[in-house]
Amino acid sequence: MNTLIEKAKSEHTLSKDEILQLLQDETINQELFKSADSIRKEFVGDEVHLRALIEFSNFCHCNCLYCGIRAENSFVDRYRLSAEQIIQLARQAYDFGYKTVVLQSGEDFAYKVEDLAQIISEIKKLDLALTLSIGERSFEEYKILKEAGADRFLLRIETTDKDLYMKMHPKADFENRKRCLFDLKKLGYETGTGCLIGLPGQSLESLAGDILFFKELDSDMIGIGPLIPHPQTPLKNAENGNLELALKVMAITRLLLPDINIPATTAMETLNPNGRIMALQSGANVIMPNITTEDIRCKYEIYPNKATVNYKELEDKLGQIGRKISHNKGYRNLRRAL
Ligand code: SAM
Repeated sequence: MNTLIEKAKSEHTLSKDEILQLLQDETINQELFKSADSIRKEFVGDEVHLRALIEFSNFCHCNCLYCGIRAENSFVDRYRLSAEQIIQLARQAYDFGYKTVVLQSGEDFAYKVEDLAQIISEIKKLDLALTLSIGERSFEEYKILKEAGADRFLLRIETTDKDLYMKMHPKADFENRKRCLFDLKKLGYETGTGCLIGLPGQSLESLAGDILFFKELDSDMIGIGPLIPHPQTPLKNAENGNLELALKVMAITRLLLPDINIPATTAMETLNPNGRIMALQSGANVIMPNITTEDIRCKYEIYPNKATVNYKELEDKLGQIGRKISHNKGYRNLRRAL
């Protein structure tokens, strides 16, 4: 066995240079994927956690160069769901058997933190875990949302290469994004972050830095997304992110953070019709089906042709690889407490 993979499997640490060596070496990919799969099995088991995604607003004040719902994309048909619509979708998710709902939106300050807190406390009357993914807010705001009942928060760092971050996110503040993540952790959220793979100018070295950042934060969830260029953005002529590389970054992350939750991301499935299964066999243990209704879903186009989930098909495919849908909420912290 490759000595670095062996070290990562047993010690769950690697230096930046060692991670870089793994990322550079194309000959070890299958061994890396298999090792991440076995560590996944050992630490988090064969169950796959489903998180029902509700995309409740596509208004966004940010201008991320890659994102289809960026503020300056005037072609977007903007929408905001009402509190009642969001709660109704969460009820449907609960009735269907989901154990977690994820409320995601652009950075939309039309939802005051008090409004969000009310929505959260209403949804938490159901037996559901609740994840937020609403972007950067203050410590105080995150605190109010946590006290209202939110359990988890997703906020990708996108890249830890500060210069690249500043190029990709005009007027955004890299230090503030980091501050948000450490505040979320401090407040007791199960905190998810992650990065994009394939940003123009991104180096393998910076990806190694991203993985070390996940470890430094002790992130509870990591989502790795290959870039998929959106035709109405400044990155329209960029190339798709490399799926194999995205799987490698994910697999190394599993080896270094063995008990966390890792989604097989929609972007992976969008690039390859078997992308989710490939990810589930390379370290992932979560899938996030979108339960927003079709008329709304098509307006939340961060990139084109987003893959969907067919529940029955998914159940069958999971059965074929010896995996099954979980019926618990899949908290990392509860696993650790056992
Ligand atoms: N506003 C929230 C935030 O900033 O975390 C959540 C919504 S944001 C649209 C969700 C994620 O979509 C981002 O973290 C980004 O990584 C991903 N994303 C946006 N555009 C993408 C693209 N063209 N290809 C792949 N992923 C993309």
